Amino acid sequence: MHSFQRRGKELFCEDKSLTSIAEEYGTPLYVYSHSTVTRHYQVFEEAFASIPHIICYAVKANPTGAILKLLAKMDSGADIVSGGELYRALRAGIEPSRIVYSGVGKTEKEMEDALQSDILMFNIESFTELAALDEVAGRMGKRARISLRINPDIDPGTHPYVATGLRTSKFGIPFEYALEGYDRAAKLPNIDIIGVDCHIGSQLTELSPFVDAVKKLIELITVLRQKDNDIQYLDIGGGLGIPYNTENPPSPAEFADAVKRHLAEANVTLILEPGRSIVGNAGILLTRVLYTKKGKDRRFVIVDAGMNDLLRPSLYDAYHEIAHVVDEERDIEVSDIVGPICESGDFLAKDRRLPRFDKGDLIAVMSAGAYGASMSSTYNSRPLAAEVLVNGQTARLIRKRGSCEDLIRGERVT
Ligand SMILES: *Cc1c(COP(=O)(O)O)cnc(C)c1O
Repeated sequence: MHSFQRRGKELFCEDKSLTSIAEEYGTPLYVYSHSTVTRHYQVFEEAFASIPHIICYAVKANPTGAILKLLAKMDSGADIVSGGELYRALRAGIEPSRIVYSGVGKTEKEMEDALQSDILMFNIESFTELAALDEVAGRMGKRARISLRINPDIDPGTHPYVATGLRTSKFGIPFEYALEGYDRAAKLPNIDIIGVDCHIGSQLTELSPFVDAVKKLIELITVLRQKDNDIQYLDIGGGLGIPYNTENPPSPAEFADAVKRHLAEANVTLILEPGRSIVGNAGILLTRVLYTKKGKDRRFVIVDAGMNDLLRPSLYDAYHEIAHVVDEERDIEVSDIVGPICESGDFLAKDRRLPRFDKGDLIAVMSAGAYGASMSSTYNSRPLAAEVLVNGQTARLIRKRGSCEDLIRGERVT
């Protein structure tokens, strides 16, 4: 993660000091590194270069236009989960032929828009969705290319909220119903079966769940081909983890090696849907200490970013490293870093032994590039944080700070 490095006491993003960025753009502020996003994408791309593949960046990880455009310029595809994400992806210049559409609840309108744009394929998550897509395509005089998202019942060993490939999960079609699903799809007049898909979870730090899933799906592909289905794509989803704390996830190259070994004779184009591993460590949340107070057994550090800006600690009990932007000799204190929101669950870090924070200090909440800004809300009527993209010595505003007018846009009072 060497785009956020210290020079002397000061934390920098690339060649720009975070203190100067905070002075110019204010806090709370998301700061992303151009070179990290680029490098992470390229590392992924190189890891799979030896086999036919498409990297479909998971837009939900970070959908900000400038980030998408940066990825589009490197020829990234997109994994989308809504009509809004289709709109963003197309606007950023991502090729429709490199867009796959996942999600359990696609509406007919969303299906229409995606068919109209001629995206590569729909990852279908239920039989009723399959029937609906067939009907929408028929009505439009189009054919819909699909894969079924198969739930291989594999425990990815991650937080329950981000494990998506278990039997109990709402996602995908249970493995034992896969053949029935493909038989149904084959009979539908406006559906073209082109792939098999899965996504077993997020923030995976082991390779074995990926390998188990790939093996299971390749067996399925063999059977499907015997039944005359023209399977061209194997989509293995996203989910590769990143180091937030002490995790030591496999590199994209290790991930690729493990997967490729099982693909030798599969004769498919591999689709990958990485989100977090591309942008997670490319961004931080910059926030300033408003007040401090002494609790019974800890110090409360009240900052100007809250759970509305970065939900992951509240939602998943997620760990984000907390760093002083200006590192000086300080006493260590047990601290809770908390936001201004009126909820006990509003914290960015809890029960941490950290160098003492005082009013006015700047804090970098590390590894906040994925599922940070994208999960933010205006709860407590707090305007959305601004976002900045740093390239070398240049910081560029890529999303203006929200305003009070933004908060009430669309409201009708009388
Ligand atoms: C969220 C999601 C991804 C991206 O997951 P990461 O853990 O960010 O890589 C990919 N595919 C699907 C279907 C998803 O829901």
